[in-house]
Amino acid sequence: MHIVYSDRYQVDIGAHVFPMGKYARVRDQLVARGLIDPASLVEPAPAGWDDLALVHTGEYLEKTRSGRFRASELALLELPWSPEVAEGFRLMAGGTIAAARLAVEAGARLKREADSTAGAGRRLAAAANLGGGFHHAFPSHGEGFCLYNDVAVAIRALQRDGAISRAAVVDVDVHQGNGTAFVFDRDSSVFTFSIHQEHNYPHVKPRGSLDVGLPDGTGDVEYLRALERAIPAVLAWRPDLILYVAGADPFIEDQLGGLCLTQEGLRGRDSLVLSAVRDAAIPVVTLFAGGYARRVDDTVAIHIATIEEAIRLGA
Ligand SMILES: [Zn+2]
Repeated sequence: MHIVYSDRYQVDIGAHVFPMGKYARVRDQLVARGLIDPASLVEPAPAGWDDLALVHTGEYLEKTRSGRFRASELALLELPWSPEVAEGFRLMAGGTIAAARLAVEAGARLKREADSTAGAGRRLAAAANLGGGFHHAFPSHGEGFCLYNDVAVAIRALQRDGAISRAAVVDVDVHQGNGTAFVFDRDSSVFTFSIHQEHNYPHVKPRGSLDVGLPDGTGDVEYLRALERAIPAVLAWRPDLILYVAGADPFIEDQLGGLCLTQEGLRGRDSLVLSAVRDAAIPVVTLFAGGYARRVDDTVAIHIATIEEAIRLGA
């Protein structure tokens, strides 16, 4: 499985609930456990301004370039601005575009293999960005730690290039994917699915194609049952690519989430989604999104489990 990553994803945002150090820690642990070969990691290029403009307004992009935000805009974004911060997010958006392309290529390769071996032993066609998933960014503003909506940018970029026509977003972050739902409202080529905690940020939730809002305190069993009920509708829609926004924040120990999933439950979530996607023979790109466990090690372990499941199902 191709994995996209850069040490430059980690930028200085000061003392913050968002654990910027998680990116390098996931990478280091994947290498230490022999799950990935560091030489095979794909270093992304930053998303082009023309790519970002497929989703974001020119006025907003100019602000992200110059830092000329109003104080109220930075308060909504909940990030400090610096040229380095803006570049880090632009690079992660480039990472999501690159990983999405690699997932589509893996899908085409596996399809050729399956055609020549009569479909024996189906494998998952996947690629991962060890970052990304900034689903709260809107065309003309950023919010909730999200500067650029890399999920939407990657979909639009691949559509522009003719690599895909239809895409689906499977967003299992504890917070609803408001920016992504907004961007693709009335776009019949993109299916947006979000399963999240209903009574949590964002308080205004633009409707996606399928939203499942869960009550506070939902645990593993109820969560997995709700997810299992919802997934067939996404697959039946037959997207050319799925973007799996695999937030670590439905975890019981999360500081910004109010669901009660265990690490085993979260691994079950990943396994359920990715095995259903494999069985449907749809390529998938996995993205990190949020994760604010009291112990950063827990957030790191949850992200690693997602990558492990993808590698296991792709082998
Ligand atoms: Zn979140």
